Amino acid sequence: MDSVQIAAQWERILRRLRIELGDIEYRAWLQQIVLAGAEGDEVTLQLPTRFLRDWVSDRYGARFDALWKQENPSVLRVVLRVAHTAVAAMPHDDAVGPTFEPPEPPKVAAETVAPDDRLGLRSDLAAALDPRFTFDGFVVGKPNEFAYACARRVAEQPSAHGFNPLFLYGGVGLGKTHLMHAIAWELTRRNETAGQKPVLFTYMSAEKFMYRFIAAIRSHSTMEFKEQLRGVDVLMIDDLQFLIGKDNTQEEFFHTFNYLVEAGKQIVVSSDKSPSDLQLEDRLKTRLGCGMVADLHTTTYELRLSILETKAVRAGVPVPPKVLEYLAHKITSNVRELEGALNRLIAHANLFGRAITLEATHEVLHDLLKANDRRISIDEIQKKVSEHYGIRVSDMSSARRARLVARPRQVAMYLSKQLTSRSLPEIGRKFGNRDHTTVMHAISRVNELMERDGTFAEDVELLRRLLES
Ligand code: ADP
Ligand code: MG
Repeated sequence: MDSVQIAAQWERILRRLRIELGDIEYRAWLQQIVLAGAEGDEVTLQLPTRFLRDWVSDRYGARFDALWKQENPSVLRVVLRVAHTAVAAMPHDDAVGPTFEPPEPPKVAAETVAPDDRLGLRSDLAAALDPRFTFDGFVVGKPNEFAYACARRVAEQPSAHGFNPLFLYGGVGLGKTHLMHAIAWELTRRNETAGQKPVLFTYMSAEKFMYRFIAAIRSHSTMEFKEQLRGVDVLMIDDLQFLIGKDNTQEEFFHTFNYLVEAGKQIVVSSDKSPSDLQLEDRLKTRLGCGMVADLHTTTYELRLSILETKAVRAGVPVPPKVLEYLAHKITSNVRELEGALNRLIAHANLFGRAITLEATHEVLHDLLKANDRRISIDEIQKKVSEHYGIRVSDMSSARRARLVARPRQVAMYLSKQLTSRSLPEIGRKFGNRDHTTVMHAISRVNELMERDGTFAEDVELLRRLLES
C-alpha cells in the first residue's frame, strides 16, 4: 500500500474522530496513537501502553474498522499494538504471586492532555459522566434495591454517618457504574436547585487512578496530584479491584481516603468483589468496609423483564411483550448484554422499517442467542486445552508446576475467564482449588505472552475458536 496515501487517510480518520468525539476525549485517548505501518491488507496502530491499547480497542475498535473501510476498502484488518521498548526476560517459574503491573504512563501525558484534565481531575462533570446513567433511568428490583437505596441516600445527604464510604459491589454489567454516575448527577442537580456552589467531584477508575498517580510521580507533580485529590467534595473510584499490586499507589489511596473521610467528604467506591475479598492491604480493606457495603445481586427474570419494558418505552418503539419475555428469558448474563440486544433489535427495525416480531428477533440476534444458549463449561475448556497440548486433563487441577503443564493450565484459566461468566474464585476452585490471585496471575501472564509471541497468540485464538464453534 502507498504509505503517503495511508498517512493521508489516517489524518482524515483522526480529524473525523476528533469531530465525532470532541476535543477532550480525543486528546485523552486518541492523540497518542501512532500509525506504525501498513502491509498487505493490514494497518497497524501503536499505543504506548497496554492499558491505553485495551481501552482504545474496546471503545473505538469498531469505529476504526468502519472508518478505515470507508477510506480505503483494501484495509481489512486494523491491528492495535503496544509499543514495546524493552522486553523483559521471562521468569522461569509460574509459582510466583500476582505480578500485575500498572500501565506505564506515556511520557507525553502532560502535554497531550488538556491542562484542566492534566491529572484526570475534572470539575466539568458533563464530560466524564454518562447522561443516561441517572436514578430515573435505573430500574429497581429485588436484586438491586438495597444498593439503589444506599446510593439515593448518599446523593441526598453526602457524608451521612454510616454511609461513608459507600462501597458498591457486584458482577459485571449489574449497574455499579450507573449508580455512581447517578449519585453525581443527583448531587449536582440538588446543588444547582439550591443555588449553592457546585460540588467538586473526582470520578475515575482505579486503573486510571494508578495511571495518573504514576504519571504524577514521573513528572514530579505528586504534591499537586495529592492536593487536587484532597480538594474534592466527593471522590468516586470505579472498579477498585484493579488497584492491586503496587504498594505506593495503595498507600496514596489509603492516605487520601482517610484524609477525605476525616474532612467529612464523601467517598464512593465500586468493585466486583466485597472489601474482604479484594486483594488489598488489610488496613485498607478494613477502612473500605467501615461505611456502607451494598451489593448488587445477579438479575432475576422479573428485573430483566422490567428493565426491557422500561427501555423499550423510553426508546418509543413498540416491542411486543412476547419478544421482551423471550429476551429476558434468554439473555441472563448481565444488563449490558440485555440492553445491547434490545438496541440491536430497535436499530434493525428502524433501519428496515420492519415490525419487531419473534421471528425478526431470532434472525437479528442469532449469534448473541447462540452464545447465550451454548454455555461453554470449564470442563470443556480443560478438556480441549489438555488435548491440544497433549497433557492429562487431571493436570489441570494437579499441583504440578512444571512449565509443560503450568502453561496449558494458565491458558485454560484464561479461556475460562474469557468464555464463561464464572468469577475468578470459581475458576480457581475448578483448577484444583487454586486461589483467585493465581487465576488473575495466569490471565495477565497469558495476555503478556500473547502480546510478545505471535505463535502463542495464534494458538490461544485457535483454541478459542474451537471452543466457540
Ligand atoms: P457495571 O459498572 O456494574 O459493570 P454498568 O453500570 O456499566 O455496570 O451497567 C451496564 C449497563 O446496564 C449500563 O448501560 C446501565 O445503564 C445498564 N443497567 C444496569 N443495571 C440497570 C438497571 N437496574 N436499570 C437500568 N439500566 C441498568
Ligand atoms: Mg462499571
